[in-house]
Amino acid sequence: MVDVTRIVIIGGGPGGYEAALVAAQLGAEVTVVDRDGLGGSAVLTDCVPSKTLIATAEVMTTFDSSYEELGITIADCSQGPSRVLSVDLGKVNRRVKRLAIAQSHDITQSVTRAGVTVLRGKGRLGAGGQHVDGSREVIVEHEDGSAESLRADAVLIATGCHPRELPDAQPDGERILTWTQVYDLEELPRELIVVGSGVTGAEFAGAYQALGSEVTLVSSRDRVLPGEDPDAAEVLEEVFRRRGMNVMSRSRAETVKRISARTDAAEGPSSPEAGEEGRVGDHVEVTLSDGKVIRGTHCLMAVGSIPNTADMGLEEAGVKLNDWGQIQVDRVSRTSAPGVYAAGDCTGVFMLASVAAMQGRIAMYHALGDAVQPLNLKTVASNVFTDPEIATVGYTAADVSCGKMDAVEVKLPLRGNPRAKMQGIRDGFVKLFCRPGTGIVVGGVVVAPRASELIHSISLAVDNNLTVEQVASAFTVYPSVSGSTAEAARQLHIRKREIPDS
Ligand SMILES: Cc1cc2nc3c(=O)[nH]c(=O)nc-3n(C[C@H](O)[C@H](O)[C@H](O)COP(=O)(O)OP(=O)(O)OC[C@H]3O[C@@H](n4cnc5c(N)ncnc54)[C@H](O)[C@@H]3O)c2cc1C
Repeated sequence: MVDVTRIVIIGGGPGGYEAALVAAQLGAEVTVVDRDGLGGSAVLTDCVPSKTLIATAEVMTTFDSSYEELGITIADCSQGPSRVLSVDLGKVNRRVKRLAIAQSHDITQSVTRAGVTVLRGKGRLGAGGQHVDGSREVIVEHEDGSAESLRADAVLIATGCHPRELPDAQPDGERILTWTQVYDLEELPRELIVVGSGVTGAEFAGAYQALGSEVTLVSSRDRVLPGEDPDAAEVLEEVFRRRGMNVMSRSRAETVKRISARTDAAEGPSSPEAGEEGRVGDHVEVTLSDGKVIRGTHCLMAVGSIPNTADMGLEEAGVKLNDWGQIQVDRVSRTSAPGVYAAGDCTGVFMLASVAAMQGRIAMYHALGDAVQPLNLKTVASNVFTDPEIATVGYTAADVSCGKMDAVEVKLPLRGNPRAKMQGIRDGFVKLFCRPGTGIVVGGVVVAPRASELIHSISLAVDNNLTVEQVASAFTVYPSVSGSTAEAARQLHIRKREIPDS
C-alpha cells in the first residue's frame, strides 16, 4: 500500500508520458495534462520529425556519395541534371507530419489503455501551496477557456522547452524559420542559411545539403558541434566542406531580415527565369557581427531553447529555477518544493528524450515509494544524426584533458576497417577510453554511418564496468564495423599497461 496515489503530470512528452505509464503500473491514479498532444515536442516537432526528414536525407547521401565507387551507373545520368536524385519536399514533409501524428496517437492509446486520464489544456500549480494533507492543487485551463482544479499527492512538471528567438531575427514561418516550422515547406529551400552549429543546426544543415539545398552554416565558434568530441567535430566539418557546404566559423549572426519581393520591386523587375523559390527580392539577409551580409532564400534559426516554465506558478509554490529559467532538480527528480518533481528539458539536465523519460520514471518510483536508482548521466548514450553520425557514451575527451577522469585512449580510423572499405566508407573512427591499470572502459565515441546502433556495445561496457579485455574477447562478425571496437579494446589492453593507474 503506498501513501501517494493521485499523480498529476503537466506535459505529455517523453518525460511526462513515460512517467504516467510507470505510475499507472504502480497503481496510482494518474492524470496527464498536455496542451499540444501526447508525445510532446519530441514526437510532434523535434526528435521524431527531424529523424524522419533525415531518413530521406540519409538515402540521398548514401546513394550520392557511394554509387560511383560501388560501380552503380544510372542510364540517363549524362543527359539529366548534374545530381542523380532529387526530392519532393512537400511529399517528404507530409510523410513527416503523418508519422508524427500517428505516433502521438499511438502513445495516447497506450497511455489511456493503462488507465491514465489525459486532459487537453494548459496546466499550472495552484496558488495555495501545499495543503495540510501534503497534497497540491493543479489548475487546468481547457482549450474552450474553462478551468478545472485537480488535487495531487505528487505533481510532475515535464513541460519541455521551445526554440529561442533573437529579437532581430524574428521567424515568419516562411523564410525565417525555427526547427518546428520547417515541415510546412512545400519546396526545397534553394539557398538555406542555418544559424547555429550545435546538434540541431548541424543535423538540419547536413540533411538539407543532402536533400539538395545550397547550405551556409553560420557558427559563432571555432568549429561546428562545440559540445562534442573535437576529433568527431573535425571529421564532420571536413565532410560538410568537402560536400560543398559553406561553413562560416567564428561568425555571429546579429540580424536576419526578409527582403520581400514587393520591397525589391522598386529596385527593378524580377528575373523572368526566377520561379517561386528564386523570385528576385524574396530572400533573406543575415548580417554578421563583423558587418558582413550573407544572402539566401531561407534561414533556419537554431540558437538554443527556452524552458517552458513561465507563468506556471512554480516560484510561488517554492520551486527554484536557475538563471535560465530551468527547474533545479536532484538525481531523483525532486524540486525544492515538497511533492513537486520535474523531468526533461524544463530541467536542462541533459536535453535528450531518453534522459527526460528516465527522469520521469525515476520521479514516479520515488514518489510512489518504489526502489529507485538515482540518475547516472555518465552512462547516457547520445547521437548526432548527421552523415556520418556521431555517437558518444561516458566520459569524454574534455573530461580527460581537464583531469576529471584519468583515462587512456585509442582512436582507430574506419579507413582501416575491412567492412568500411567494402562499403566505400572513408570518414569516421572508433575511439575508446579506459582507466590506466584496471582497463575499465569509461567512455567511447563512434563516428560512422549508423553510429547510433554501433555505440550500444560500448554503452554496455561503460554501464557494467567491463574491462577492455572483456570487450576484446567477445566475438564480432567478420567483416563488420563493430570489429573496430574490439580492435580498439585490444590495442588499449597493450596501451593501458604503459601508463600506471594514478
Ligand atoms: C530538432 C530536435 C531534434 C531532437 N532530436 C533528438 C533525438 O534524436 N534524440 C533525443 O533523445 N532527443 C532529441 N531531441 C531532444 C528531445 O526532443 C527532448 O529532449 C525531449 O523532447 C524532451 O522531452 P520532455 O518530455 O522534457 O519535453 P517535450 O517533448 O518538449 O514535451 C513537453 C510537452 O509539454 C507540453 N506543455 C508545455 N507547457 C505546458 C503546460 N503549461 N501545460 C500543459 N502542457 C504543457 C508541451 O506542449 C509538450 O507537449 C531533439 C530536439 C530537437 C529540438
